[in-house]
Amino acid sequence: MPKGEPTGKVIVKPEREDAVKRRHPWLFSGSVAKIEGKVQPGDVVDVVSQDGTWLARGFVNPQSEVPVRIATWRPDERLDEEWLWNRLQQAWQRRKQLGIPDQTDAFRLVYAESDFLPGVIADCYADFVVVQIYTPAMEKWRDLLAEFLMELLKPKGVFERSDFDTRLREKLLPRIGPIKGEPPPERVTITEHGLKFLVDVWRGHKTGFYLDQRENRLRSEPYLKGERVLNAFSYTGSFAVYALRAGAKQVINLDTSAEVLRLAEENAAINGFAGSVQSLEGNAFQVLRKFRDAGEQFDAIVLDPPRFAPTKATVPNALRGYKDINWLAMRLLKPGGFLVTFSCSGMVSPEMFQQVLFEAALDAKRDVLIVERLSQSRDHPILLNFPESEYLKGFVCLVC
Ligand code: SAH
Repeated sequence: MPKGEPTGKVIVKPEREDAVKRRHPWLFSGSVAKIEGKVQPGDVVDVVSQDGTWLARGFVNPQSEVPVRIATWRPDERLDEEWLWNRLQQAWQRRKQLGIPDQTDAFRLVYAESDFLPGVIADCYADFVVVQIYTPAMEKWRDLLAEFLMELLKPKGVFERSDFDTRLREKLLPRIGPIKGEPPPERVTITEHGLKFLVDVWRGHKTGFYLDQRENRLRSEPYLKGERVLNAFSYTGSFAVYALRAGAKQVINLDTSAEVLRLAEENAAINGFAGSVQSLEGNAFQVLRKFRDAGEQFDAIVLDPPRFAPTKATVPNALRGYKDINWLAMRLLKPGGFLVTFSCSGMVSPEMFQQVLFEAALDAKRDVLIVERLSQSRDHPILLNFPESEYLKGFVCLVC
């Protein structure tokens, strides 16, 4: 069991010291001058300057592009069991302080660096907690982490969904399954702002549901009440259910995956809207064009595509993709219709995304007003010294 004693020192290159002092929690391999001591992946290490001055403490993984994940800048803070317990408890305290458990039983309890717990994501879904572990340090703490989560929240079980690409970069293999308590059922029913949703925590995207969009679903609800709404890149149809509650007569869920569309239908049904949703399996890029050619029109359109720009090199292509779907959507809206549009690419800033929408509006020959700016839900807080924690941005646009 980790006791928090540093087993080595990581010496930072002089020109990179400033980043550590400015509290960026990642130390990249290019910033490391030398690793001293017999360190194993997952050990606690001290980060020091060339002259030996103590700078920070964190967890090491010499095989990673980010060999140190800094967890504290306080020299007296030990990274031990008590530290883990305190960080979990503080994360829970913050969620309660924000009133999140009053609005929903599905929320992010731990958002890694933003909760000062690098390497861990923990999402609550009613009686289950789903964790993602992506550093060797947290791998070693898996059982303890689950034990603490059981103690803190008293769920029926803690389940692991460590099957995403970040793990491969840390040279860790995928892992899915229960850690403690009961395994979750195939579908967990959650309640969000008074609506019910079925979540597949075993195989769904991320840990099962797009919790980061929760507050955006509520904020866009009043704009989605028109007769005919298109929910493109629908996943399990969450925005559709809000639209139907708002009074939309007909909502089309559009996604490439037949499986998620089935769940989207069930989600509409359990909220009493079975007859008002339609599923359309297809590629949004093509379907939007088909709609345009057929002269279809909508009162509101939601565009929530997957991350188009996973790396810096893919940004130009991603921007072209965003522009394409957005200009098509603007074309398809009736005058006075609403476009609720998102980008979850961290590499694309809100300013860049706004510029894309401007270009799209010019091409669509429509006057477009931004009426709301959206970001990720408050249980995914943005840590100022870690700009990478911000990724989701959106706009509600009134398309004249
Ligand atoms: N708005 C959803 C989350 C959307 S995730 C929510 O709040 O729950 C993005 C979805 O886009 C995924 O379900 C994925 O299957 C789908 N998708 C990816 N590429 C697509 C494409 N070219 N056309 C249509 N859907 C696509």
